Amino acid sequence: MTKIELTRIPFIKNALKSRYPQLAVFIVMLIGYIFAILAGLIGTPVGSHNFSIVFVWIAWWAILILVAVPFFGRGWCAVCPIPLPGEWLQRGAVLSPPDKRPKWLNLRVPKMFRNIWLQNISFLLLALFSSVLLTTPNITGIILAAMLFAAMGLSIVFERRAFCRYLCPVGGFIGLYSQTAPIELRIKDKQVCVTCEGKPCYNGSPAGYGCPWDVFPGGLTSSLSERKYYCSKN
Ligand code: SF4
Ligand code: SF4
Repeated sequence: MTKIELTRIPFIKNALKSRYPQLAVFIVMLIGYIFAILAGLIGTPVGSHNFSIVFVWIAWWAILILVAVPFFGRGWCAVCPIPLPGEWLQRGAVLSPPDKRPKWLNLRVPKMFRNIWLQNISFLLLALFSSVLLTTPNITGIILAAMLFAAMGLSIVFERRAFCRYLCPVGGFIGLYSQTAPIELRIKDKQVCVTCEGKPCYNGSPAGYGCPWDVFPGGLTSSLSERKYYCSKN
C-alpha cells in the first residue's frame, strides 16, 4: 500500500510543530474531565441522566472504539487529559522546558512492574465492575478522580508517564488495537537517527521535552514496538 507522509502537508506539519493546538485541545479535555468528575460526585444519581455516565461510558467509549483507535491509533493519548496535571507538575511548566526543573524523585519504575500486568489487571477490574460503573455516577466520579490523582502521584515519584505506561487500563487496550490504524509514527531514515547528536526526541533539549512515553522514535518498527522497547529496557 502506498504510504502518505502526512508531515509533508503544511497544515498538519505546522499544527504538529506548534505547541498551542495540542494545548488548546488538552485544556478543553481537562475541563470536560473535571466536569465529569464533579457531575459523577455531586450530580444526579440517575445514571442515564448523569453527564459522567453519558459522556464517559457511552459517548467517549463509543468514539474511542469506533473512531479514535481504528483511524488514529494512539492519537487519543496525544489529547488525553489524565496525565496532564501530573506532567505539568513533573516538568514545572506547561509549555517550554523551564530554566530550572522541579526536584522530584524522578525514579525509574522498578523492573518487576515494567510489564503489562498492572494494565491488564486494571482493565480487567474495569470490565468486571462495568455494570456498577455504568449505573452509579458517584463510582464513576471516584474512578475518574482516582486516575487523575494516581497519574499525578506517579509523575512526582517516577520519571516520564509511569501511569500511562504501566497502569492505565485504557492504554494497554489502545496499544494493542492501534496496530490496525492507518496512521503510524515512523522515522524516515535510520542513518539520520544513528548520527543525531543528543537524540533530543528521547532525551529532550532546552527547546523541548523528550518523549514522555519513554519511546525512542528511531527504534519504532510497529505500533506495538514502543511497548516492546520500553518493556525490554533496564
Ligand atoms: S495511556 Fe491512558 S492515561 Fe495515558 S494518555 Fe493514554 S488513555 Fe490517557
Ligand atoms: S527521531 Fe530522534 S534520533 Fe532521529 S533524527 Fe529525530 S531527534 Fe534525532
